[in-house]
Amino acid sequence: MRREDFPILNEKVHGRALVYLDNAATSQKPQVVLDAITEAYSHWNANVHRGVHHLSQVATQKHEEARVKVARLIHAHSSEEIIFTKGTTDSLNMLARSFGDAMVKEGDEIIVSQLEHHSNIVPWQMLCERKGAVLKVIPLQEDLSLDIEVFKELLSEKTRLVSVAHVSNVLGIVNPVEEIIRLAHEKDIAVCVDGAQSVPHLVVDVQQLDCDFLVMSAHKMYGPTGLGVLYGKKEWLDKLPPAEGGGEMIEHVRFEKTTYNVLPYKFEAGTPNYVGSYAFGKAIDYLQEIGLEQIAEHEYALAEYIEEALSKIEQVHVYAAGRKKAGAVSFNVYRADGALIHPFDVGVLLDRQGVAVRTGHHCAEPLIDYLGVPGTVRASVGLYNTKEDIDTFVAALKKAIMMLE
Ligand code: PLP
Repeated sequence: MRREDFPILNEKVHGRALVYLDNAATSQKPQVVLDAITEAYSHWNANVHRGVHHLSQVATQKHEEARVKVARLIHAHSSEEIIFTKGTTDSLNMLARSFGDAMVKEGDEIIVSQLEHHSNIVPWQMLCERKGAVLKVIPLQEDLSLDIEVFKELLSEKTRLVSVAHVSNVLGIVNPVEEIIRLAHEKDIAVCVDGAQSVPHLVVDVQQLDCDFLVMSAHKMYGPTGLGVLYGKKEWLDKLPPAEGGGEMIEHVRFEKTTYNVLPYKFEAGTPNYVGSYAFGKAIDYLQEIGLEQIAEHEYALAEYIEEALSKIEQVHVYAAGRKKAGAVSFNVYRADGALIHPFDVGVLLDRQGVAVRTGHHCAEPLIDYLGVPGTVRASVGLYNTKEDIDTFVAALKKAIMMLE
């Protein structure tokens, strides 16, 4: 699928053709996105929102058009609900600060799950420390799915917010966020969906999900790094205070009292990444041109193909085996005597053969601790990966296992 649009895929690594299977960490960029960045700095770079001059108006228009594209991509009700941030981590920190300041008091509870990325744990822990609140954790069942029965018991009048990953960045499995949202809403509890690994791989509709907040990163979906989104329902964003102060986010500043700008600018202090948003808009156009459903199907099929191939290698254990995976497959390799081969060693030997995978805790240490291993090897696909890539990876893995056994 359109490999030729991604110049970096022609690179050689250690003299081998690159097989890039680290898309869950970041995706590569198509030429249209690279061109957009050059175009912006070459033709219309100017600070947005506050200039009467031509370039500033062009830059503002392009930045705001990108916001509309994001709103359409995730089916937000309006582009006022799209706040540009630096990325998923920044979005979650901003939400923890803003929501936490306004809504959380001593003794209140925030719920996350055992399989969250650190970005969806630490900001909530910091909030709990600031406020004397308590972090509760949805445990996992044997098949690594979230224990919804325990989740139901965790929901109480003390719960202020539930924040869960839509797709696990380690296991690739899709969590039942619709059910989580429905159960939380029955008790008037807000839900934030960490969409960092879902928006790149699935068709996400925030109105259908009915989530109160959703966070995502542009760099994981063929866009530039340093840009992300915090989606929030308008009724929430109207109610919540800004998390950061500075230019852009104000209406009037007086030493006696400052009043704040309208949505979404209230949450966007300082000069925004308008070059990034423009390039992200081009990435969204590109994805929609191919078709999000087609991309999702292609990636599901590739993940299945990986799992099938790995399940034939005796020494390999695949996590959450048999469950449908949105792009990422995690596994470990064991010697005949049952000893684990360190994922780092597997990763290094794959790299020497031109295959890029990620090894380690994947910023999800509580999950890795639960699995009782030092880390995993994770192969994660993007729209440009092919079955040939997977065949190369599997052949390289078999060679690595022979060397490490
Ligand atoms: N949440 C999940 C599920 C992720 O996979 C990631 C990145 O891997 C993040 C949050 C953090 O994203 P970023 O580093 O772009 O802020």
